[in-house]
Amino acid sequence: PSSGNVTGPAQQAMKGVKHIIAVASGKGGVGKSTFAVNLACAFEKLLRSESGDARVGIMDCDIYGPSVPMMMGVSSRPEVNGESLVPVENFGIKMMSMGLLIDESTPVVWRGPMVMKTIQQFAANVAWGDLDVLVVDLPPGTGDAQLSLVQTLPLDGAVIVTTPQLVAVSVARRGATMFEKVNVPLLGVAENMSYLLGKDGEQQYIFGQGGGEHTAEALETSFLGQIPLDPVIREGGDRGIPAMISYPEGNVAQSFTKMAESV
Ligand code: ADP
Repeated sequence: PSSGNVTGPAQQAMKGVKHIIAVASGKGGVGKSTFAVNLACAFEKLLRSESGDARVGIMDCDIYGPSVPMMMGVSSRPEVNGESLVPVENFGIKMMSMGLLIDESTPVVWRGPMVMKTIQQFAANVAWGDLDVLVVDLPPGTGDAQLSLVQTLPLDGAVIVTTPQLVAVSVARRGATMFEKVNVPLLGVAENMSYLLGKDGEQQYIFGQGGGEHTAEALETSFLGQIPLDPVIREGGDRGIPAMISYPEGNVAQSFTKMAESV
């Protein structure tokens, strides 16, 4: 990992993980978790096609609204092995999430320090083993909780997910500043919900146009591309089978695969 300013138990415990990539957003509801899940599936597919083997994981750090388990179709509790939690696996991807440790009716009203403690444990007390890539789904926003989280994990880089709305630029910029503070390089900006494809094949720009590209320009990083608004993506999230898995040859899967290739 290149962020050499991180030391401690997390770094130690994650030494078998080759690359750790954070997925961040300035605000909630832009599809950050959806993106993280499909990106992990795209990495799995790419690595498997390249070397016949893929070891990919997702760490869901969205403590207040963990949606990775539902999106990945898992609900079983992780087993405990000595001091460590064993990640739960589906579609060849290992995952750990607060959503696997609490039941749905438990309100997660925790204060910052508790959140930090949990994340430290996700890093230090989860038997991730050897992984090629670990995708970290950060909580939405750019506050103190996110900042300390980013400091705790030995991140190699971060991808910012945004919508096409131009207001997103200033929000995303705050996110970039946060990564700058802790010397985590930005890998690029991905635009989600870019357009709706009409029956006639026409692209309808429901949320405006250009937000992703403008954000990438403003942050002096690369624009990774667009993901359309597509019911296939929403259904995938609700059914627990990501679009990358259920429609591996579809347009959506191609967009995610292209992004996985370029980060
Ligand atoms: P965030 O993590 O940013 O809060 P989510 O990933 O939970 O956002 O997405 C919010 C909702 O929008 C989910 O129901 C998800 O299935 C849906 N969604 C996300 N991206 C798309 C898309 N490109 N097309 C259709 N639905 C989407």
